[in-house]
Amino acid sequence: MHEVDLMQSTLQTVARVAEQNSLGRVSCIGLRVGVLSGVVPEALQFAFEVLRSGTVAADAKLQIEIVPARFWCENCQVEFELAQFEFECARCGWPMVLRGGGTALELAFVEGENTVAQHNPANAGQFGKSSGPAAGRLT
Ligand SMILES: [Zn+2]
Repeated sequence: MHEVDLMQSTLQTVARVAEQNSLGRVSCIGLRVGVLSGVVPEALQFAFEVLRSGTVAADAKLQIEIVPARFWCENCQVEFELAQFEFECARCGWPMVLRGGGTALELAFVEGENTVAQHNPANAGQFGKSSGPAAGRLT
Protein backbone atom coordinates (compact mmCIF):
# COMPACT_ATOMS: atom_id res chain seq x y z
CA MET A 1 0.00 0.00 0.00
CA HIS A 2 1.55 3.18 -1.35
CA GLU A 3 0.13 5.42 1.36
CA VAL A 4 1.84 3.45 4.14
CA ASP A 5 5.26 4.03 2.57
CA LEU A 6 4.44 7.68 2.09
CA MET A 7 3.32 8.08 5.67
CA GLN A 8 6.41 6.30 6.89
CA SER A 9 8.69 8.74 5.08
CA THR A 10 6.46 11.62 6.18
CA LEU A 11 6.85 10.64 9.81
CA GLN A 12 10.61 10.34 9.33
CA THR A 13 10.68 13.87 7.96
CA VAL A 14 8.46 15.07 10.80
CA ALA A 15 10.80 13.49 13.34
CA ARG A 16 13.76 15.24 11.72
CA VAL A 17 11.96 18.58 11.66
CA ALA A 18 10.91 18.15 15.30
CA GLU A 19 14.49 17.43 16.26
CA GLN A 20 15.85 20.40 14.34
CA ASN A 21 13.33 22.68 15.99
CA SER A 22 13.57 21.11 19.46
CA LEU A 23 9.94 20.10 19.38
CA GLY A 24 9.41 17.54 22.08
CA ARG A 25 5.91 16.88 20.94
CA VAL A 26 4.26 17.40 17.59
CA SER A 27 0.65 18.56 17.80
CA CYS A 28 -0.27 18.96 14.17
CA ILE A 29 1.07 17.87 10.80
CA GLY A 30 -0.06 19.52 7.61
CA LEU A 31 0.14 17.73 4.29
CA ARG A 32 -0.69 19.07 0.87
CA VAL A 33 -2.07 16.36 -1.36
CA GLY A 34 -2.71 17.11 -4.98
CA VAL A 35 -5.95 15.80 -6.40
CA LEU A 36 -3.95 14.16 -9.20
CA SER A 37 -1.17 12.82 -7.00
CA GLY A 38 -2.79 9.41 -6.92
CA VAL A 39 -2.81 9.41 -3.14
CA VAL A 40 -6.04 8.61 -1.33
CA PRO A 41 -6.38 10.98 1.65
CA GLU A 42 -8.44 8.46 3.63
CA ALA A 43 -5.74 5.84 3.19
CA LEU A 44 -3.12 8.36 4.23
CA GLN A 45 -5.11 9.18 7.35
CA PHE A 46 -5.47 5.50 8.12
CA ALA A 47 -1.75 4.89 7.68
CA PHE A 48 -1.11 7.79 10.02
CA GLU A 49 -3.33 6.29 12.73
CA VAL A 50 -1.43 3.02 12.45
CA LEU A 51 2.11 4.38 12.24
CA ARG A 52 2.12 7.35 14.58
CA SER A 53 2.26 5.46 17.89
CA GLY A 54 5.69 5.57 19.44
CA THR A 55 6.75 8.51 17.30
CA VAL A 56 7.08 12.16 18.22
CA ALA A 57 3.74 12.63 16.46
CA ALA A 58 1.85 10.07 18.53
CA ASP A 59 -0.71 12.65 19.67
CA ALA A 60 -0.64 14.81 16.59
CA LYS A 61 -3.48 15.67 14.30
CA LEU A 62 -3.09 15.15 10.60
CA GLN A 63 -4.40 17.93 8.44
CA ILE A 64 -4.70 17.10 4.78
CA GLU A 65 -5.18 19.91 2.36
CA ILE A 66 -6.39 18.88 -1.06
CA VAL A 67 -4.63 20.83 -3.78
CA PRO A 68 -6.91 21.33 -6.78
CA ALA A 69 -5.96 20.90 -10.40
CA ARG A 70 -6.70 23.35 -13.19
CA PHE A 71 -8.96 22.39 -16.07
CA TRP A 72 -9.77 24.34 -19.20
CA CYS A 73 -13.03 24.34 -21.14
CA GLU A 74 -12.48 25.44 -24.71
CA ASN A 75 -16.17 26.04 -25.25
CA CYS A 76 -16.66 28.33 -22.26
CA GLN A 77 -13.12 29.73 -22.45
CA VAL A 78 -13.01 29.31 -18.72
CA GLU A 79 -10.48 27.73 -16.42
CA PHE A 80 -11.77 25.78 -13.46
CA GLU A 81 -9.95 24.79 -10.32
CA LEU A 82 -11.35 21.47 -9.21
CA ALA A 83 -10.64 19.36 -6.17
CA GLN A 84 -11.62 16.23 -8.05
CA PHE A 85 -10.97 14.93 -11.51
CA GLU A 86 -13.68 15.88 -13.96
CA PHE A 87 -13.73 14.99 -17.62
CA GLU A 88 -16.55 17.26 -18.64
CA CYS A 89 -17.27 20.91 -18.11
CA ALA A 90 -19.93 21.40 -15.44
CA ARG A 91 -21.42 24.27 -17.43
CA CYS A 92 -21.65 22.92 -20.94
CA GLY A 93 -20.54 19.30 -20.88
CA TRP A 94 -17.54 19.73 -23.18
CA PRO A 95 -14.52 17.57 -22.50
CA MET A 96 -12.05 19.61 -20.51
CA VAL A 97 -8.33 19.85 -20.90
CA LEU A 98 -6.12 19.35 -17.89
CA ARG A 99 -3.88 22.35 -17.53
CA GLY A 100 -1.81 21.34 -14.57
CA GLY A 101 -1.49 21.55 -10.85
CA GLY A 102 -2.80 19.07 -8.37
CA THR A 103 0.17 16.74 -8.40
CA ALA A 104 1.81 18.05 -5.25
CA LEU A 105 2.50 15.82 -2.34
CA GLU A 106 4.40 17.65 0.32
CA LEU A 107 4.75 18.40 3.95
CA ALA A 108 3.22 21.82 4.47
CA PHE A 109 3.95 22.38 8.14
CA VAL A 110 4.75 20.78 11.46
CA GLU A 111 3.41 22.31 14.64
CA GLY A 112 4.54 21.37 18.07
CA GLU A 113 5.69 22.32 21.50
CA ASN A 114 9.23 23.15 22.31
CA THR A 115 9.80 21.18 25.44
CA VAL A 116 13.48 22.04 25.60
CA ALA A 117 13.10 25.79 26.01
CA GLN A 118 9.85 26.10 27.89
CA HIS A 119 10.83 29.45 29.33
CA ASN A 120 10.42 30.94 25.91
CA PRO A 121 6.84 30.56 24.69
CA ALA A 122 7.82 32.07 21.36
CA ASN A 123 9.55 28.79 20.66
CA ALA A 124 6.30 26.88 20.88
CA GLY A 125 6.48 27.14 17.25
CA GLN A 126 5.54 26.32 13.81
CA PHE A 127 7.69 25.14 11.09
CA GLY A 128 7.54 25.87 7.44
CA LYS A 129 4.21 27.66 7.11
CA SER A 130 6.05 29.81 4.65
CA SER A 131 7.55 26.77 2.93
CA GLY A 132 11.15 27.01 4.06
CA PRO A 133 13.88 24.86 2.66
CA ALA A 134 13.17 22.14 5.20
CA ALA A 135 9.61 21.75 3.98
CA GLY A 136 10.41 18.60 2.13
CA ARG A 137 8.84 17.12 -0.91
CA LEU A 138 7.88 13.55 -0.32
CA THR A 139 8.08 12.33 -3.86
ZN1 LIG B 1 -17.74 24.57 -20.76
